[in-house]
Amino acid sequence: MAGQVGSTAISTEAVKALKGDFRGEVVLPADGSYEEARKIWNGMIDKHPAIILRCLGSSDVIKAVRFAHDQKLTVSVRGGGHNVAGNAMCDGGLVIDLSGMKAVRVDPERRTARAEPGVTWRQFDLETQEFGLATTGGLVSTTGIAGFTLGGGIGWLVRKHGLALDNLISADVVTAKAELVTASMTENTDLFWGVRGGGGNFGIVTSFEYELHPIGPIILGGLIAHKAEDAKSLLMFYRDFVKDAPDELTTLVAYLTAPPLPFLPKDVHGTHLVAIALCYAGKTEEGERILAPLRKFGKPVADVVQPMPYTVLQSMLDEGAPAGLLNYWKSSYISGLTDAAIDTVLSYGARITSPLSAIHVHQLGGAMRRIGDDATAFSHRSSPSLLNIVSSWQDPAENDKHVKWTKDFFAAVQGFASGAYVNFLGEEGTDRVKEAYGEDKYGKLVALKNKYDPTNFFHLNQNIRPTF
Ligand SMILES: Cc1cc2nc3c(=O)[nH]c(=O)nc-3n(C[C@H](O)[C@H](O)[C@H](O)COP(=O)(O)OP(=O)(O)OC[C@H]3O[C@@H](n4cnc5c(N)ncnc54)[C@H](O)[C@@H]3O)c2cc1C
Repeated sequence: MAGQVGSTAISTEAVKALKGDFRGEVVLPADGSYEEARKIWNGMIDKHPAIILRCLGSSDVIKAVRFAHDQKLTVSVRGGGHNVAGNAMCDGGLVIDLSGMKAVRVDPERRTARAEPGVTWRQFDLETQEFGLATTGGLVSTTGIAGFTLGGGIGWLVRKHGLALDNLISADVVTAKAELVTASMTENTDLFWGVRGGGGNFGIVTSFEYELHPIGPIILGGLIAHKAEDAKSLLMFYRDFVKDAPDELTTLVAYLTAPPLPFLPKDVHGTHLVAIALCYAGKTEEGERILAPLRKFGKPVADVVQPMPYTVLQSMLDEGAPAGLLNYWKSSYISGLTDAAIDTVLSYGARITSPLSAIHVHQLGGAMRRIGDDATAFSHRSSPSLLNIVSSWQDPAENDKHVKWTKDFFAAVQGFASGAYVNFLGEEGTDRVKEAYGEDKYGKLVALKNKYDPTNFFHLNQNIRPTF
């Protein structure tokens, strides 16, 4: 037996035959690269696949799907490996690892880009910025484009240019039957509707084609940080300030413990801060004028809003999200920063159990809201804000303490929270997946799953269960 973990056994002959015409790497538990290959961003995830197939192209993906059928293996699909739920890995099954598929091709004339599913936002941005172009990408540049786009994609350009999936023009998809099809507004339109929000439920995307927009290379962005003790008045001011903000402005409120970074005064290191991180995706002078009241408010301990390369803005938050920490998240859309929301955020913020944890409130709206809720599988487009309780820590002995804080906090927001965003969901069960879509849309997605994946071959994801 070649790979054997738990009850899963794969025949040596089958692996040998696969290796014969597989372009990428076949990784088995005994191989030197296995330990590294099974690691993903969330250090909580410690799964042991029987085999990892590091694909280098669509033909490898097709072979991997066939191999899984032949060997009756459970399949997980890994793009950038950032998802907190850890569904990119599996125990005892086959990981279809796309992280080595890195090609990006920009067409500056048509303002489009084609990218393979192992590309991260950093890599994508470096290619498109060469031509002064971009599309909505993640707030942390190490995030994979694949899972991010298939689940939604909220980033600095979301209010100006919509979600990442709103910028998807077409996708090449390997289906559960191991067939390669193209999904777009003219081909397999039902599948195209489903992959834009339905995550990895309908197949494996081997190529993403995006619309690009003129952005940068210099853009106005940065963050303004205040002491947490001043946060109530700040957040009350902020919620009025963003009410009529132009689409060019996208902001994120973050409650955090100040890291020892040079732009923060030494005396606030280790204390609680509330930061407003932002991007103005328009003319710098116009942005400076619009942001002036926010920057003048109160007594910020730091204001590093300035013109900067778009690629710098895109990696501004990277240091706060290193790979390998233990992570447990809870998230819901909220009906804006009401008094109750502000009080709850500040009250749980004051009792935050780990200096590495943070509370995020993403400002939504703009272009994302103007697209019809039925246009794609993504839901909750009219929500003004998305809350994400991001618990991160290092010591496994502290798991219970941090998970409890997160759960207690999440229970406390239920009065003003609703729905879920699939890209921020942990392993939370079918009801939460239904909340991400709403009952009607979930029904439509089940019908699509029945058509494209009736045996639930792709089930290690925020799963839409077929009814066959
Ligand atoms: C530090 C950090 C910052 C983040 N910031 C943001 C943010 O700013 N905005 C936002 O919207 N989200 C953000 N996210 C969430 C992010 O969108 C999701 O974690 C997303 O799933 C990551 O995609 P990935 O390819 O890296 O992950 P993976 O873990 O590789 O993939 C997640 C799932 O997507 C599916 N999948 C992946 N690739 C494919 C494919 N090619 N075909 C079919 N299915 C596939 C699989 O089911 C897989 O389990 C962030 C996450 C982290 C950890």
